[in-house]
Amino acid sequence: MQRLQDERLRRMLALCARGHDYYRRRWAAAGLDVPSIQGVDDLERLPLTSKQDLMADPEAFRLRLPDLPLHERALWEVSYTTGSTAEPTPVYNTTHDYHAYLFQSRRVAEISGIREIDVIANLFPLTPAPMGAFQRSVTNAYAAGATICAALPGSPHGSFDVHRPLDYAVRTVEVHRASVLWGVPSFLRRVLLRAQELNVDFGSVRMCAISGEATTPEMREELRRCLRALKAAGTTVFDRYGSTELGAFAQCREEGDWHNPAPEIQYHEVVDPATGRRLPDGERGMLAVTHLDRRGTVLIRFLVGDTVSLTRAPCPHCGRTSERIVGPVVRGADLVKVKGMLINPGALVAALASMQGLDEFQVVVRRQDEADPYSMDELVVRIACRDEKLVPQVVAQALAVTRVSARVERVEAREIYDPDETKVKRFVDARKPLTRT
Ligand SMILES: [Zn+2]
Repeated sequence: MQRLQDERLRRMLALCARGHDYYRRRWAAAGLDVPSIQGVDDLERLPLTSKQDLMADPEAFRLRLPDLPLHERALWEVSYTTGSTAEPTPVYNTTHDYHAYLFQSRRVAEISGIREIDVIANLFPLTPAPMGAFQRSVTNAYAAGATICAALPGSPHGSFDVHRPLDYAVRTVEVHRASVLWGVPSFLRRVLLRAQELNVDFGSVRMCAISGEATTPEMREELRRCLRALKAAGTTVFDRYGSTELGAFAQCREEGDWHNPAPEIQYHEVVDPATGRRLPDGERGMLAVTHLDRRGTVLIRFLVGDTVSLTRAPCPHCGRTSERIVGPVVRGADLVKVKGMLINPGALVAALASMQGLDEFQVVVRRQDEADPYSMDELVVRIACRDEKLVPQVVAQALAVTRVSARVERVEAREIYDPDETKVKRFVDARKPLTRT
């Protein structure tokens, strides 16, 4: 495998040296002798690429080589990365890249047990910019030979009235006898809860394939609890780790590590982001990915933003030997500072999502005195619930997860969400940024 990776890396770097604006400039400025890089072991000599580098000039990351065959040049689709504060960033995929994603998805399906008899319900929202998770649900189904349908939820926008409410998602699953629910965990939970309220037959469902939000073991258990309550055919929660730039990694069993499904097309390192030094397997650091065989947006030593570790030991469950990402995956972009402490609001949101009896909730960071931008931060959890005994439990949960004490406010559910919205804003940072002078 490494011989193949070395060969592909040399080819990839040669293509970048000819037709990749960003790396041509960056490597020339650093005086690097790129042809002397013979394989993945020499990658350390190349600089890291940050998300900011890509966001600043996404066009400069596209290969532009008019002499390549048509399928390597033709633009097949553009996905946008979401979650950043700025405009979403386009990631370009040529026909070649689309085929590579089909190849990778077939492996993901094999590893995670998605089969051709499956019926996948795509419950990802219809967003203003095309989101990889939505577009690729179809590609994953094609690759597995499975059937797919979509519920088109999301906050309404545009003039064609194509978004559908929550109950339509419940109906889609029932009508098509879907076996796999594919979407964001908090929305899947709402679909499962609504199905219970409506007493709908979800007996065909055997798996929730989740991505797009950080979850805790408790949240995943909550999804299983809902599936059991619905007498579903199975209760598997398949947690996909991935991103628009990477594609998905696969677990061969629940709560397991994430296998790189396609080492032929991407190489991973765990690095020290300050120096670019590669860290040994088992040590935690930032995940960096290098594309070995791409033609649209090409990234070399790209910092995904997550802290993880890697192992290359054969998987104790399935015996596969490609590298595995070992959690917990801590998403750098998800951390915020509250009272000087770095907290992960996603983890708190996930912990609250799994609490019984909370109708709705929202985590807010704000200043104690709104008028005074220098006043102390405050972590507030707004909850809607019938039982006031939940208040001290929420206080304890927030402290356990964030190590910051939170103030809990009881509000009406409708103050937190509009029933037609798919994605409730679970976390709000209401602090006005301080102006630097
Ligand atoms: Zn395995």
